Order: sequence, then C-alpha cells, then structure tokens
Amino acid sequence: MVISAGRSLTAGALAVARHLLIHGPATRGDLGDRLNLSYASTSRAARALIQEGIASETLEQEPAVGRPRQVLTAVPTARHVLGCKLTADTAYAVVCDMFGNVRSAGRAALPGPDASGAVPVAGTARVIAQLTNRIGRRVPSVDGIGIALGGIVTGRSAVREGTFLGWRDVDLAGPVSARTGLPVTVTNDVTALAREQLWFGAGRTHSTFGVITVGAGLGFGVVREGVAVEELIDNGHLLAHAPVDSRGPECGLGHRGCVAAYLDHTDVARRASVTFDGLVTARRAGDPTATRILDEASHALGHLAATFAGALQTTCIVLAGEDVGVLAGTAAMNGAIADRLRPGPAEAQRCVLDIVTTPLTFNDWARGAAVAGIQHILGAA
Ligand SMILES: [Zn+2]
Repeated sequence: MVISAGRSLTAGALAVARHLLIHGPATRGDLGDRLNLSYASTSRAARALIQEGIASETLEQEPAVGRPRQVLTAVPTARHVLGCKLTADTAYAVVCDMFGNVRSAGRAALPGPDASGAVPVAGTARVIAQLTNRIGRRVPSVDGIGIALGGIVTGRSAVREGTFLGWRDVDLAGPVSARTGLPVTVTNDVTALAREQLWFGAGRTHSTFGVITVGAGLGFGVVREGVAVEELIDNGHLLAHAPVDSRGPECGLGHRGCVAAYLDHTDVARRASVTFDGLVTARRAGDPTATRILDEASHALGHLAATFAGALQTTCIVLAGEDVGVLAGTAAMNGAIADRLRPGPAEAQRCVLDIVTTPLTFNDWARGAAVAGIQHILGAA
C-alpha cells in the first residue's frame, strides 16, 4: 500500500472540487458564475486541482462560433479513503473513491471489552490499521481514514461518550493515525451520514435538511445552509423526547408518550414483551396488537419529522436506519404529517414535505464515514 501525503486545498479550489463532485463537469465560466469567483480565482483553482490530479480539463468546441470552452471534470480515482463504522463488537470498513463509490469492503471483530467494560482503544486502532492494509490493497493508495461511531465526538478526533464501546474521553484519531501514518477523522455516525447526504444525496437539492435514523436508538443529523452541524447541543434529546400523546406509554426516562417511547427499541420491546423484529413478523401474520404498536411508532415518526422540519425550516427530511423501511411511508406516518400541515379555513399557503427514505446496511454507515474522510482530506468544513 502506498501512502500519499495529501495537501488541503485553498477555499476556492475546494469550492470548485466540491461543485464538480456534487454536480458533475462544468466550464470555468459556469463555475465562476455559480460560485461567485472571479475569472482569475477560477483559473487559479482549476490549475491547482489539475496539478493535484483531482480534476482534468478538456476543450469543448462550442457548436456556435466562438472559442472552445474549458470543461473541468473531477477525477474519481484521485483520492481513496477508508471509511469505518464501529459497532459494539465489529469494525465494518469500505474503501471509497472521491465520488463515494465503494471500491472494496471488509469487516473485522473488535477486541472484547476489558474488566471495566470498555473495548480496548489500542486494540481497536490495530484492527482498523489491519483492515486498512487488507482492503486498501485493492486501490492504488489510501489517502485518509474516516471513522464513525454512535456517541459524542469532539474536535473530529476524541470520543467523549462512545455509547456502545464503553468509552469516555478517548483519543481515537491519534492511535489510528500513529499506526497508519494517515490523516484520520472521527465523526458521530449520524453526522457522517448527514455529510454523505450533503454531497451525494439530499444536499444536491436542499441546502438545509435533517437526518433521522431509527434503529437501536434515535439519531439526528443537521445540515444548515450547506454546512453539517458537527455536534448537537443536546445529543438529540429535545427531538427524541418531544411529546406526542400525554396518555401514551413511558420512555426509559419516564416521559409519558414521548417520541422515544414509541420508537426506541428497548422501550418498545419492554412494552410489547417482544423484540422489534418480532413485532414486524407478528404484523405480517395479521396480529392486531403488533399492528397497533407499529402504527403508533409510524405515527410518532411522522410527528418527529414534522417537528424537525418545522424547527429547521426545511421541506426535506431524510429517514435512515434499519427500521425505516418498516415504519416510513405508511398511512400512519403520512397521516400524522398531513394533519400537522393541514391549513386553516382562511390560510392559502401550502407546504409539502419531501421525506426521503434510505434503509441502511453497516456498509452504508461505513460509506458515510468514508465521505466524511474525503471531505476531511480535501479540507472541507
Ligand atoms: Zn422520553
């Protein structure tokens, strides 16, 4: 494996690279207009990107008379990044090119927790380094590493609370970087997903949007005016525990009828005395109780999406995670949203929400980490 020391781009070059990656090839003139860059700045950025191998330029003869246009195109294979999603016991990894295309994938078991219940950090760094060597062999070079995990991450390197790994104030980027010699960025897994959506998903059409993940727990990602919010002020509590029905079931924190009471796996399983997957199977067999519990979960998800969209003032909410395929797009969810948007008799304004659903595998989570890593090595905010 060749290790290449990438350089961060200037703001202008980064803006051009980002535009080419997200929207495809463009002429220098187009780029200048869209990014509000002078002709000189656009030319400087183009030269830098060509020199770094990140973009190539071709001359395109205009059909009408005139000089040929210079068309810039991003080179997908210019950089490769390993994205790694950590669960309680496994590291799932993919290697992506600059377009976020997965070029190879693999996984490895993490060391078991020590006496204090924490997964050893040094052992985790070793597993990630070994994965980088193993699946990085299939591309010319790995230029950086992005790691995503559930919990609170500060400064893109330290894990303040690693929910499933038993970590508190752990420097993860340092040991992985020391072992691999590569730039490493650590991101909350839902934030990484929001970053992936910003470049290659909802962000192509919406500068502001929210991401909700529904799985083992509820997760939230926020993109405002083209910038991913790196750290939530409340770890998602204000949304996860928003009230839905004051007569509803209790969540683990003792709120009656909050969003989490209907959607959190542990809370739902406690109430139904069966796992979430068990409920899905029972509903398929026509069980009325399972059907009601899942409809209530869909209804709560509709309220959650509506509340998030209203607070963020966006029409776009991305629903992702293992359970969204079961809960999203149902009559119960759509009904809750439609009811929240229903105009009064004298109101003329109409609003329609664009709810995007993406069921996720662990490799999709790892891809989010890789895209966060690509943004990091290019110097994106
Ligand atoms: Zn609650």
